[in-house]
Amino acid sequence: MIRFEDLLERVRAYTTDEEREFLRRAYVFSALEHKGQVRHSGEPYLIHPLEVASILADMRLDPVAIAAGLLHDVVEDTLTTIEKIQEHFGAEVAHVVEGVTKISAIPFSSSEERQAENFRKMLLAMVDDIRVILVKLADRLHNMRTLEHMSDERQQKTAQETLDIYAPIANRLGMSKIKNELEELSFKYLDPDGYQALTAKVENRRKAAEIEIEDLKKTITAKLSEAQVPVISVDGRLKRLYSINQKLKRQNIELDQVYDFVALRIVTDSVRDCYAALGIIHQTWSPVPGRIKDFIAMPRPNGYQSLHTSVISERGFPFEVQIRTDGMHRHAEEGIAAHWKYKEGRVGDHRDERHFQWIRQLLEVQQEVSDPHEFIQNLKVDLYPEEVYIFTPKGQVKALPRGATPVDFAYAIHTDIGHQCVGARVNGKMVPLRTRLRNGDIVEIVTNSGHKPSRDWLNFVVTARARGKIKHFVQGEERVRSVDLGRKLLEKEARRFDLNPATLFESDTFKKIAVDYGPGDEVFAEVGYGKIQPRKLLARLVPQDDLKEKPPAASVAPPMRRVFGGGSAGTVGAGGEDKIKVRGIDDLMVVRARCCNPIRGEAIVGYITRGKGVSVHSATCSNVQNLLYDPERRIEVEWDSDADASRYIVRLTMQVEDRQGILADVSSRIAAIDTNITNVEASGADDDHRGRINMAVEIKDVKHLEKVIKLLRGVDGVLDVERAGART
Ligand code: MN
Repeated sequence: MIRFEDLLERVRAYTTDEEREFLRRAYVFSALEHKGQVRHSGEPYLIHPLEVASILADMRLDPVAIAAGLLHDVVEDTLTTIEKIQEHFGAEVAHVVEGVTKISAIPFSSSEERQAENFRKMLLAMVDDIRVILVKLADRLHNMRTLEHMSDERQQKTAQETLDIYAPIANRLGMSKIKNELEELSFKYLDPDGYQALTAKVENRRKAAEIEIEDLKKTITAKLSEAQVPVISVDGRLKRLYSINQKLKRQNIELDQVYDFVALRIVTDSVRDCYAALGIIHQTWSPVPGRIKDFIAMPRPNGYQSLHTSVISERGFPFEVQIRTDGMHRHAEEGIAAHWKYKEGRVGDHRDERHFQWIRQLLEVQQEVSDPHEFIQNLKVDLYPEEVYIFTPKGQVKALPRGATPVDFAYAIHTDIGHQCVGARVNGKMVPLRTRLRNGDIVEIVTNSGHKPSRDWLNFVVTARARGKIKHFVQGEERVRSVDLGRKLLEKEARRFDLNPATLFESDTFKKIAVDYGPGDEVFAEVGYGKIQPRKLLARLVPQDDLKEKPPAASVAPPMRRVFGGGSAGTVGAGGEDKIKVRGIDDLMVVRARCCNPIRGEAIVGYITRGKGVSVHSATCSNVQNLLYDPERRIEVEWDSDADASRYIVRLTMQVEDRQGILADVSSRIAAIDTNITNVEASGADDDHRGRINMAVEIKDVKHLEKVIKLLRGVDGVLDVERAGART
């Protein structure tokens, strides 16, 4: 059983007398508060904070962190308050204890919403003071070590939570020692049978493996000293059960196919010696192709650095060799804690930028993503990185998750490069932006300073960073557009009732009602997004009796055919700007829907899209007919009377008899009526001797189209002509 004196021994080397006195006071306080409490094991409760503090002392953390370890449960489990902790031990200790208490207070639930909330709180606590998470990890480690005393149900829950949340966080912070122990313990409780079976298998091979390790160590030590490569240590170990299990499951292989079941670790003084040692290893044994990894030149996202290679011993025994410097080794084991080391009475380098950057980025993304499911997805990509290494043309390297695209890469370099990215060259060749990058690709991003990110990018980017930045930008743009549209729709509605929009918007009544919909111009945005009907809003502003519709002016074109349709979900795309007016509104941007591509003269109907302005469909478009559920988004539109209209590309499909020269006949007939063909494709006959011609022609308006279709139907051998409908 650990005693306080043992703890003092561990910190003696790096603390002052006063600091140890400070720790003693924390210990006494904790002892008094937890007096009489026992753990499930039957031991006095005090054992737990003492063990937690000693795990923190092993990381050589500062007295604030260790005192917080001693006190971490008093607020949660006793009547003590944070204020009291602050009074006795200062603001910093109180702050850390409070952070740990807050994290513990969230009940674990498998629901994604809760999990997202959990993570969010932890991230917040981490940016605030990383010691919160270090204390929490130490707390969890000791609870996992003593999990046997809990009920079965509790064991499962705690172990699952550890595997889902705490081990990945430890990993992301580079603390492999703690991560490894958390994973081993979780495996043991989550799958006791699998754990037992694998332990037995490994035991069978342990003896042989240990003899082999001793042999290999001797050989390597001798070879290195012969080559005058100085080393600090050469160690051998068996791979951990959890990782073996993962590997067996993932690759569906047997234990004797695991190349790194046995691993040797060489620790050197310098990077140069690492590469020298690698050379000696490869001269001594044959390397396994494809297993050499240079994490020194290309560190993992969590900062891990090392050289890895797998070789086969004389007796045919495969083993992995990891080579790294002393500093890299410490970083690999302790991660962020290595930067929190307590040196010469001062706290060390607090801000390991790499780690803090990650935490800050995640938080930033989290603030922009309200859907917990999406947040967890992003987090998973970031927490379980299976990375690829991508190079800039200048040889700079970026680690990205597997599946990353040039857009992810562009955002990894700089937000502006991401926003302005218009193309990418991978290994010298232009590729589509959605291309999945492969390890070692050299990627050059082509930018254009006026370019803006596209919503479509969200369909293929994988990094939380790119996703967050794109979303933020697109939503911002859409909001501006919606505010503009909303304002115009309200103005239109007001004029219709003979009200002056400017006076109306400035009125106190309006301002008072607007607040209900949110701050600033949110009320316009809501109208622009189609969430509020202008008429309903107006009804709230003006007494019903005063609302008198103005008789339509004589000059207004006859009302267009009304189509009782509504709503538009994903059917809209910019089909090109055109002379289409929304009735009663000037200068509003409308786009022709790509799905039906309406042409001048056709009956059309407008939709207020979610954030993309008004889109105009042909009244017969099946999308319009299918989306009747949201009539509030429908808006009347009409073709502008401007005669000098642009031309539209219309695609026609013809069924034709399979005879020679028919394509030439069709083309010349169309040319004869002064109509441009922009594209034509003919496909050969199928079983019933019919061929097919697909043609794109430039059309002025609906009359012109009718003329063309009639003409084509009259061509000898043309069986049927159809206007190609929805985009397929
Ligand atoms: Mn605890």
